[in-house]
This record gives sequence, C-alpha cells and structure tokens, in this order.
Amino acid sequence: MTIEHGAEKKELLAMDYLISLPVRYDAGAYMGRFLKGLINKEIWANKCPKCGRISVPPRALCGRCLGTEMGEWLKLGDEGTLESFEVCFYDFIQSNTGQIQKAPWVKATFIMDHGAIMEHYMVPPDPTKHKVGDRYKVVWNESRIGEFHDILHFVKKEE
Ligand SMILES: [Zn+2]
Repeated sequence: MTIEHGAEKKELLAMDYLISLPVRYDAGAYMGRFLKGLINKEIWANKCPKCGRISVPPRALCGRCLGTEMGEWLKLGDEGTLESFEVCFYDFIQSNTGQIQKAPWVKATFIMDHGAIMEHYMVPPDPTKHKVGDRYKVVWNESRIGEFHDILHFVKKEE
C-alpha cells in the first residue's frame, strides 16, 4: 500500500486481519418499542403533533419540522401500497448483519397505514413483476428477535 503525504510517497507495510468487535447499545425508547414490536409481528410508528409526519421506525425528533414532542403511537398493518422501487445490480454488505446482499436486489418504498412511508427489500428482483400502486405485504422471519431483519422483505399481495 502506498500513501501520499504532500509530494512525499511512502510504501507502508500492511497486514490483513479480521477484527471482531461485539457491540451492544441501548436502542432507546422509540427504536426499542419498534424492535420489540417486530418480535410480535407489529410495526410501530409515531406521529408528530406539530406537522403530522408519521415516522417508521419511530423517532424522538421529527425529521421534517424538528419537533421534539413526538406524541401519538400508531400500530401499522403489515401491508402497503408500492410507491417506488429500484433494482440494484451490485452486491453490498448489510451494515447491521455483515452479510453480503447479492445482486440483483430491490429497494422499495411503500405507503403504509395512516400514510406512513416505509422502505424495505422487495422480491423478486424482476422489475416486470412489480407495479407502482399495487398492494404488497410483509414476509416475516420465522425466528424474530427484535431486529430489522425480522421483516425479510415485501411481496405482492395475491388478488
Ligand atoms: Zn413534525
């Protein structure tokens, strides 16, 4: 490996090794309620009393008006209307699991109950199989432990 510092170039010795760094953190009251809900197949959101924005996952601060009084809790159903999607043709490392998401994969945005906007994966990764405006439903992980991947992905709802 070569590093440049100004006009000077230095050749560095390098060793490759894998770091194991187990981390635990408090999810907090808002994210904690969301993650606990996933165990019971519940999707929780909260509504800003100032501007009406619904946040899912719930937040302590409103991302739109920066309001700090996030009052009403809303339990959403596990169905939504497809708002937009994109098929991605590159692999990436999922930040919360470290697993590789192999291409192609689909990132989608759904309008849930109460107008809540939720982003997640959708299958199959074939754009001809999806249509904005159609109804989709959550596919739950059989072994839910209170993490984002308790929701595996969305699939088109059978008519
Ligand atoms: Zn707000």
